[in-house]
Amino acid sequence: MEKVDVVIVGGGLSGLSCAYRLAEKDLQVIVVERGDFPGSKNVTGGRLYIKPIEGIVGDMLDGAPFERKVVRERWTLMGEKNSVTVDFTGENLKENRHSFTVLRSTFDRWLSERVMEKGVFVIPRYRVDGLLQEEGKVVGIKAGGEEIYANVVVASDGVLSFMAEKAGLKPRMTPKGYAIGIKEVIELSEDRINERFNVGKEEGVAHLFIGDVTKGRFGGGFLYTNRNTVSLGVVVGIKAMMEAKPPIELHTLLDTFKARYEIEGFIKGGRTVEYGAHIIPEMGYKGISKLYHDGLIITGDAAGFALNMGITVRGMEFAIASGIMAGETILKAHSTGDYSVNTLSQYGEMLKSSFVIKDLYNFREMGDFLDRDEVFSLYPRSIPDMIEKVVWFDEGPKERIGATLWKAAKGSGLMGLNTLKLLLGLKKV
Ligand SMILES: Cc1cc2nc3c(=O)[nH]c(=O)nc-3n(C[C@H](O)[C@H](O)[C@H](O)COP(=O)(O)OP(=O)(O)OC[C@H]3O[C@@H](n4cnc5c(N)ncnc54)[C@H](O)[C@@H]3O)c2cc1C
Repeated sequence: MEKVDVVIVGGGLSGLSCAYRLAEKDLQVIVVERGDFPGSKNVTGGRLYIKPIEGIVGDMLDGAPFERKVVRERWTLMGEKNSVTVDFTGENLKENRHSFTVLRSTFDRWLSERVMEKGVFVIPRYRVDGLLQEEGKVVGIKAGGEEIYANVVVASDGVLSFMAEKAGLKPRMTPKGYAIGIKEVIELSEDRINERFNVGKEEGVAHLFIGDVTKGRFGGGFLYTNRNTVSLGVVVGIKAMMEAKPPIELHTLLDTFKARYEIEGFIKGGRTVEYGAHIIPEMGYKGISKLYHDGLIITGDAAGFALNMGITVRGMEFAIASGIMAGETILKAHSTGDYSVNTLSQYGEMLKSSFVIKDLYNFREMGDFLDRDEVFSLYPRSIPDMIEKVVWFDEGPKERIGATLWKAAKGSGLMGLNTLKLLLGLKKV
């Protein structure tokens, strides 16, 4: 029977950040990861915001393999045969370290090597099957016939967290609370990316799409530029997928998205080098699990720390911050020898006073706000159509622009009760 101080289940960003915080201290820490290497099973869009975590990561991300600094933000309303894009850039984005694109297979692997250099054991290809419990307290893990005892187990095992479920800490999964995303990483040369996306060296673009990309269903498309690849994907709410008639297939949506005129030019001549699919928690604040139990702490996606804000998706900085705070709490527990909820509850307090719970709480109504069909169908269809009418010149005299807009808005349903409700709903998000 083996016993260590800490077993971290999951070598993603939250598990590795926790391990980094614990490394170099007088503790025996192991990270167990079911994938071939940390990062091999992890999927993100993805862009990581740096500002919220800058004050807590210490030197953890020094020399991190970021792909590109995001200097352009784009959002597209995609109709069936047309689209409208807002393209934002500015000196602030260009001059400051605000957010970076990342590739998890590179990033997590790099972080795991850093963690190992500091003396933590990271064990890949090791899938945990269950928790060891004694008198209601978590005392270790079970994996393929082996048992490892620990003072504390950290469940950093991602959105489907088997660990949190086994401990009875996770709310029941419902289709409305989750989305599924698929993504391709497409290789292009660095110069080609700079030219096609109108960015300088090491500068990049974060681009989100809603509308026809998901055939008007809850979800959207994304495109992030990396150093010499682009990450392109589609996300759809699981409930929306289940209800879709005719049924929608995720890979068909992605193929159709890739073939769109708006996308085709960006990825032309590129070669797909990675393909992945993953679930995303969509419940925000309302989906947070219980965060600790005697001998157990839950971090990152496993705890439900993810937020779809419409204009962006966040999860990675919550994963990193919660991992670090879990590490800090464990150090306190180690110093007193008390791994019960009496000490582990400090993790909850730390999260509450941090941006993690504050942001999730502030945007707690976002899920319900976005869960309206018109957001994904009416507006992405009608607004590009309206613009098309304004920019189109036919034979004969041109109608006044104001009159064109007025007629188009009235005819499309844009001026109905739905829009009024949406505008009123804006106050809550
Ligand atoms: C398509 C998509 C787009 C996204 N876009 C963004 C974005 O742009 N920005 C952003 O901030 N967030 C984004 N997110 C969310 C973000 O990726 C997650 O919030 C983040 O990855 C959570 O990190 P984590 O460490 O908690 O979990 P994960 O990264 O999922 O890591 C969990 C780890 O646990 C391992 N594991 C699971 N079960 C076991 C087991 N039984 N035994 C051993 N190991 C196990 C897994 O293999 C995995 O390595 C996106 C997510 C998706 C799916």
